[in-house]
Amino acid sequence: MKKILILGGGGFIGGHLAKKMKNKNYYVRVADIKNHEYFKIEEICDDFILGDLRDPLFVKKVFEIDEKWDEVYQLAADMGGAGYIFTGENDAAVMHNSALINLNVVNESVNKANKIFYSSSACMYPEHNQIDTDSPNCEESSAYPANPDSEYGWEKLFSERLYLAYNRNYGLNVRIARFHNIFGPMGTWNGGKEKAPAAMCRKVAECKDGGEIEVWGDGLQTRSFLYIDECLEAIDKFMESDFIGPVNIGSEEIISINDLAKMVIKISGKKIDIRNIHGDEFIKKYKFKCPQGVRGRRSDNKLFFNKIGWSVSEPLINGIEKNYNWVNFQLNKNNKI
Ligand code: NAD
Repeated sequence: MKKILILGGGGFIGGHLAKKMKNKNYYVRVADIKNHEYFKIEEICDDFILGDLRDPLFVKKVFEIDEKWDEVYQLAADMGGAGYIFTGENDAAVMHNSALINLNVVNESVNKANKIFYSSSACMYPEHNQIDTDSPNCEESSAYPANPDSEYGWEKLFSERLYLAYNRNYGLNVRIARFHNIFGPMGTWNGGKEKAPAAMCRKVAECKDGGEIEVWGDGLQTRSFLYIDECLEAIDKFMESDFIGPVNIGSEEIISINDLAKMVIKISGKKIDIRNIHGDEFIKKYKFKCPQGVRGRRSDNKLFFNKIGWSVSEPLINGIEKNYNWVNFQLNKNNKI
């Protein structure tokens, strides 16, 4: 029986991953600073350890096992959507918290993990390659000279290098993926840490027929979004391969934020107008500069396909439909309480 350790399994991707591993009848241990909001402990693991991975003694305890973990997945990070990462207010916490987690985890892995997966992010790509909304460059080889547009991205780049250094110096068997906007049910959908697809689904679900939703920025900025099921499949294929990365895990289907809003509105069946808010109007209302991130971003999947021989296939609308239905259900459930 494979033994799997999932750090950050109380979160969105980690929770889904743990559930998938548990369904395969592997022995699964999850560690997180919080319980999973939606999954029951027994649905996702055999053993849930609650605590702070910034603490090296806690990390030691989490890694305790007779021999070694077959696979460790490091998904824990201080993260959130644009409203958390791009305002500047959380820069010190994001860098400090995530770097500490990775420093502790990588060190413990040397003697305790046969293989470790590290989740980096597309946010580490240089800003100057993502000015064009139609053809941003996110090829893995374009990472240097580095120039991420957020401290979150800089920490990811630092930690990628940390895992690679442990691979070179201590033979740690690593797999490093750069996620591009993963979304789906059981993800954060309110409270300020949610990302664009969940935020859009919530705004539309909350809005009355004939009403209006607010979209941050001019709405022309572009992104690509990957549904959680395909992300898990990609992680599986990557872990089975000999390639260590870093490699993108994302979708190549690019869409503007306004078109994403229109997609959700169409799914809802309501008639809703979009109002873009930015510039002085935004500052006046929210007391900080409109956080938009780079102008354009899309996963480039050539390397993943060349090295691993697999690519994502589902159109965005299929995932967005499932996500909208889930967010709408959560909202109605909350309103009934
Ligand atoms: P998430 O916030 O849902 O999950 C992260 C988990 O880490 C949370 O459950 C959180 O409680 C836990 N955590 C944070 N600090 C901790 C600490 N000190 N000790 C213990 N646990 C702690 O995020 P997610 O969307 O599931 O993302 C998982 C990973 O993938 C993260 O590393 C993130 O940076 C990366 N990533 C995600 C996306 C995406 O679109 N979701 C994109 C790029 C990269």
